[in-house]
Amino acid sequence: MQKTITRRAIVQGGLIAGALVPALGLMGNYAGAAALTPLDANDPTAKALGFVSDATKVNAAANPTFKPGQMCSNCAQYLGKPGDASGGCNIYAGHSVPAGAWCKGYAPKPGAAPVTAPAKK
Ligand code: SF4
Repeated sequence: MQKTITRRAIVQGGLIAGALVPALGLMGNYAGAAALTPLDANDPTAKALGFVSDATKVNAAANPTFKPGQMCSNCAQYLGKPGDASGGCNIYAGHSVPAGAWCKGYAPKPGAAPVTAPAKK
């Protein structure tokens, strides 16, 4: 028995596939965000990079590259959106970091205003 495929069936199949592919992509993004777990400061990589969940508490003496104002939200590695309380980080796959955290992996986000230390009075 030979089955013929009509042009109408091909067009309908293409429309359904075209609608499903973006929907599946959105589901993948949601699942990825939901799968992030907060980074533990005792994580070996976090410890090695001096991760702190509050950038205002960085030990400046132990981290001479740190400048006040640097934090995850203005780091090139940060994957959260502006205004998010936390987001992913390229350094710590599978984990989220607070927007106000910091580590030695900090690199200024391209196009962001340079972070400068406040003027001394
Ligand atoms: S690499 Fe950047 S975004 Fe990631 S934890 Fe360190 S400072 Fe935050």
